[in-house]
Amino acid sequence: MFLKEYIKDVWGAISSLLKGMKLTGYYFMHHNKEAITEQYPDNRKTLKMADRFRGEVVMPHDENNEHACTGCTACELACPNGTIKIITKMEPTPEGKKKKAIDTFVYRLELCTMCNLCVEACPTGAIKMDQTFEHSVFDRRLLTKKLNKPDSKVREGVE
Ligand code: SF4
Ligand code: SF4
Repeated sequence: MFLKEYIKDVWGAISSLLKGMKLTGYYFMHHNKEAITEQYPDNRKTLKMADRFRGEVVMPHDENNEHACTGCTACELACPNGTIKIITKMEPTPEGKKKKAIDTFVYRLELCTMCNLCVEACPTGAIKMDQTFEHSVFDRRLLTKKLNKPDSKVREGVE
């Protein structure tokens, strides 16, 4: 009885192997010039990530190098693990007063868990999650980023 089961299992394994090899052989003989599968990184240019994929936090700037960040620090407070550090400065207004503005938006990608809490906390929609994902670097200091671009400023009317 045991021997019968054993032989049956061995035969099942061999026939399953042959079945797979038959298909592989068919594609090798008939489609050996075609790409049957297309895998990363060969498909990098056409790769579309899932809509909900989150790769990193970014701050969009418009063609005038303006963004919507007021330096309110709501994102920094919402972040559960200290990924964001907002450094502010005081800027003069046309009325001769002083107003708080963003100096540096520090984002430490290596700490980010992509939880999206900062994006949800931002009252002006100044930051969003981007779908970039090729973040490997040899020097981890490169993962600490400044999200506001050089000489950028907050868009007029954003409070
Ligand atoms: S996505 Fe989450 S972890 Fe990353 S910076 Fe925003 S709040 Fe922090
Ligand atoms: S990104 Fe949004 S929440 Fe963060 S400091 Fe700027 S305006 Fe405030």
